[in-house]
Amino acid sequence: MTMIKRRSTRQIMVGTVPVGGSAPISVQSMTNTDTADIDATVAQIKRLEQAGCEIIRVAVPDMAAARAIRAIREASTIPLIADIHFDWRLAVAAMEHGAQAIRINPGNLGGPEKLARTVDAAKHHRVPIRVGVNSGSIEKDLLRQYGYPTPDRPTALIESALRNVKLLEVQGFGEIKISIKSADVLTTISAYRLLSERTDYPLHLGVTEAGGLIAGTVKSSVALGILLSEGIGDTFRISLTRDPVEEVQVGYALLRSLQIRQRGPELISCPTCGRTRIDLFSLAEAVERYAQTMQAPVKIAVMGCVVNGPGEAREADIGVAGGNGVGIIFKKGEIYKKVPEAELLKVFLEELQKLEQERLAQ
Ligand code: SF4
Repeated sequence: MTMIKRRSTRQIMVGTVPVGGSAPISVQSMTNTDTADIDATVAQIKRLEQAGCEIIRVAVPDMAAARAIRAIREASTIPLIADIHFDWRLAVAAMEHGAQAIRINPGNLGGPEKLARTVDAAKHHRVPIRVGVNSGSIEKDLLRQYGYPTPDRPTALIESALRNVKLLEVQGFGEIKISIKSADVLTTISAYRLLSERTDYPLHLGVTEAGGLIAGTVKSSVALGILLSEGIGDTFRISLTRDPVEEVQVGYALLRSLQIRQRGPELISCPTCGRTRIDLFSLAEAVERYAQTMQAPVKIAVMGCVVNGPGEAREADIGVAGGNGVGIIFKKGEIYKKVPEAELLKVFLEELQKLEQERLAQ
C-alpha cells in the first residue's frame, strides 16, 4: 500500500514472526509489570495482543523472572523477548524457559567465556539475539575516539553496535538484529541512517526515554517516521511513559500515516470551531475508544458541522457531523440520517458495529 522502498535486510525469525527482508514492519512493546508476577504479566500481554502487538519484550532482572517465562509464554500467542543486562546466567535461563529471543549488549555480559556460553545456548535453542546499544552503554575507548554521539557525529553508537555484532559473529552466530538508541531525535535519525549503510542485519528502531504521551509520541513519530519513510527499519517500539497498549496504538497510527500498514479503522476528526453546536470532544473521544476495538480497516469521520463536515470527509466510509442539537450521520459523503444529540453516540456506535460486521463478512 506504500510507495516507500525498503532497504534490503536479511530476515530472522523471532518465534513465528519474521523480521527483516520482505516481512511486514512489526510492532513491538514491552511489559511494565513485575515479570515474576505471571498473572499480571499475562494479563498485560493479552491486552497488548488485542491491540495488535506482534512481539513482546519482558524485563528479566532475576532468576524468578527468567523462570516465569515458561508460564507466560504458554499463556500468550505472541513471541517473547527476554531483556537481559549484565548477567549471562539470566540470558541462558530465559532461553531454557522458552524465551524466543533475547536482547543483550554482548560486551557487558562479563567477558568472552560468558558470552560464548550465552551464544551456545542461543544456537541450541535457535533463538535470535537483539544487539541493543544506546548512548549510555558505549565503550570508553569509543567515546574517547569519536566523542559522545551527536546528530553530526553519531559514529560512537554505530561502532559500538558493530563491535558487539562482531563479538557474536566470531562465535559463528548470525541470527541478529540491531538497535542503537538515543534519547535525541536527530542523533537517532543520523545514527540509523549510517548504520543501515554499514550492515544488512534487520534493524529495530526506537527512541529511548522518549517521554509521556505527547512528547513521546512526537519524538518517536518524527524519528521513526523519517527513518521508515526512507525505508530504514524492520521492527520498532514506541517508548512511552504510559500504558504499553498506547505504544502499540501509536505504532499502528504511525504505520498507517505512512501508508505502510493498516490495522483497524482510520479516524479523522475536525478540531472544531465557532460553528460547532454539539459536544464534539466527548463524541470524538467515545468514537475513538470504540474504534480501537474494531478490526475492519474503515475510515470514520467525526466533524463539528454540516457546512464542511460531509464534504470534507467525503472519503470516509461513515461519518457524523454536528448540527444544532442534532447529529447528521453520513456515508460516503451522502446524508444517511439525522439523530437528536442525546441519542447520537448510541446510534452512531450501532452503525459502526453494522459496518464492521459487513466489512468482515466480505
Ligand atoms: Fe469548524 Fe465545521 Fe470545519 Fe469542524 S468541520 S472545523 S466545525 S467548519
